[in-house]
Amino acid sequence: MIRKTRLFTPGPTPLLPAAQFAMAAADIHHRTPEFRAMFQKVLAQLKVFVGTKNDVLLLSSSGTGAMEASVSNLTSPGDRVLVLSAGKFGERWVGLAKAFGCEVDVVSAPYGQTFDLEAVRAALKPEHRVVFLQATETSTAVRHDVEGIAKLVRETEALLVVDGITGLGTTHFDVDGWGIDVLIGGSQKAVMIPPGLSYLSVSDKAWAAMETSKNPRYYFDLRKERKNAAKGESAYTPAVALIAGLGAALDYIAGQAGGDLEKGRIALVDNAQVNAAATRAGLVALGFTLFAPTAPAAAATAVAVPEGMNSGDVVKALKTRFALVTANGQGEMQGKIFRVAHLGFFDYLDTVALLGAMEHIAKDTLGLPVEYGQAVAAAQRVYADAVNSGQ
Ligand SMILES: *Cc1c(COP(=O)(O)O)cnc(C)c1O
Repeated sequence: MIRKTRLFTPGPTPLLPAAQFAMAAADIHHRTPEFRAMFQKVLAQLKVFVGTKNDVLLLSSSGTGAMEASVSNLTSPGDRVLVLSAGKFGERWVGLAKAFGCEVDVVSAPYGQTFDLEAVRAALKPEHRVVFLQATETSTAVRHDVEGIAKLVRETEALLVVDGITGLGTTHFDVDGWGIDVLIGGSQKAVMIPPGLSYLSVSDKAWAAMETSKNPRYYFDLRKERKNAAKGESAYTPAVALIAGLGAALDYIAGQAGGDLEKGRIALVDNAQVNAAATRAGLVALGFTLFAPTAPAAAATAVAVPEGMNSGDVVKALKTRFALVTANGQGEMQGKIFRVAHLGFFDYLDTVALLGAMEHIAKDTLGLPVEYGQAVAAAQRVYADAVNSGQ
């Protein structure tokens, strides 16, 4: 039988056809009026997509490049910083801050859980220059309470830097109201295009901190990027085709709400939340255990396989039988969990397809007692409730 490849990984995510066409047509030079017009339009759209009045910069790098830029531009060697870490991406903040000579304090939560706000409050010291965290920890599919944490950080002088790489497009943020100084996104996540671009919003307070920070930076010099962006350019040769694709994707997201990008962004978040809730209901109905039951992200769902079974078998069976690509656990979680994504260009029927496939895999690969339709029916009830309540 025909098997269509379906990406269900939390980055890269499925590509939007309109963005693919825009990328294929983007043979323009980057020091021309044509490019400047496109770049300025995309930067303006990104501000609406991020939901801020702050500057938003676009870098030609994967998401980690913008994470590194926020460390190198905002800190000096010897600075004390606080990292909130609950998974592989939190650990990346620790590694980055140490690489740039920071003294790193860590508040951690076990894999699959989020932070205790009292522990965060107790750990925050007046010396902390920056607090780093994820909005959603993609390795465990946990959502963190950015609003609650921002409230605590606002009582201090520290800057707040949020890796929203899978949080943007799956979580509602009030960037300016909550006081998020830097919020980072990546192209291969909710904005439906291939890897290669990162973007970040930067507050006035963060710009001011860059005047005195001493860490070395060259390619990722945000002040240089800001100067160039004001002229519609980037400091170095940008990923022109990806920027064209990003513009088309943001047009598509706006088009979901009659051309209003802010409303389109809200609809995209709601879409991910309904698909995530439907997926959780379907998998629980099949007898699986959610890995992050108390604070599940809408970006992705992490599922534990029953004791004695290997999540790699599920990932492999979905790929060989249905060409459906999911993600195994990372690091110590490999073999214990698998992850499926909901961020970006996924619709409800993609969710139904995944759950239909999971019924076969649960029965044939894992030997669970499965009644066909049981996962799909649970998801259909979630969808119907969401539609009835106006989502
Ligand atoms: C994907 C992802 C990143 C960025 O990874 P890159 O491979 O550098 O794009 C960072 N943080 C989170 C939470 C992510 O999901």
